Amino acid sequence: MFFDILTLFPKMFAGPFSESILKRAREKDLIDIKTVNIRDFAEDKHHTTDEPPYGGGAGMVMKAEPIFKAWQDTQNKREHKSKTILMSPQGKELSQDLVKDLSKEKGLTIICGRYEGVDERVRETIVDQEISIGDYVLTGGELPAMVLVDSISRLLTGVLGDEDSSKNDSFYNGLLEHPHYTRPREFNGLKVPDVLLSGNHQLIERWRKKESLKRTFLRRKDLLEDKKFSDQEIELLKEIKLELKGEVNE
Ligand code: SAM
Repeated sequence: MFFDILTLFPKMFAGPFSESILKRAREKDLIDIKTVNIRDFAEDKHHTTDEPPYGGGAGMVMKAEPIFKAWQDTQNKREHKSKTILMSPQGKELSQDLVKDLSKEKGLTIICGRYEGVDERVRETIVDQEISIGDYVLTGGELPAMVLVDSISRLLTGVLGDEDSSKNDSFYNGLLEHPHYTRPREFNGLKVPDVLLSGNHQLIERWRKKESLKRTFLRRKDLLEDKKFSDQEIELLKEIKLELKGEVNE
């Protein structure tokens, strides 16, 4: 999958995309990430990319023209058309379902805003979707773009060593993931649950499913509201509620 990232600060991406899993994914050509400096497409003498807002008020607004030209250039250079995403606190909130959907695309062009944001005509002419990473405001779209690329990349075939690893993650199946333990068997007086040392895979799977349901029930009940439960999950939830009776107000 390819990602073309339009930004005023391409150097910000060097670290996060040159380490660990994303570094290996790029080396194996599983993902192709290009950063495009919007300033290179500002054609006036001073390479102006922002101006004060019409109507007055605080801050600066990113000009439409350099963004449009940078976007046009990336579209011309790619064999496949890509969806254009604008990172924006006003967009649809990023979720694992949205990440899954976007991971089916051949490529994405991502526009990173700065200052007060981008001229509205950018959104009107070239943006297919606006995405937010949460209800808070950052100084620019670069960190949100990194979050988007990272979350999509780890779902692509071959990027994670073990294909199943992302399928067990929190949110993938609408639940939070179960707790994990590794060596040693005892740490600070706390022991690893016996079942995980039993070698009985059926029991281990059952324990994990139950812990996953319990965590979700205790921490994120909202995730259970629209979930379709299997017979086993219904049985486990009954057990959990009985066990918690008296400890939790339902
Ligand atoms: N004035 C804008 C508003 O109130 O909606 C906020 C502009 S923000 C300071 C500058 C840029 O950072 C935005 O254009 C966007 O690209 C990015 N940004 C900030 N917070 C974000 C968030 N929660 N999700 C996605 N992008 C965000």
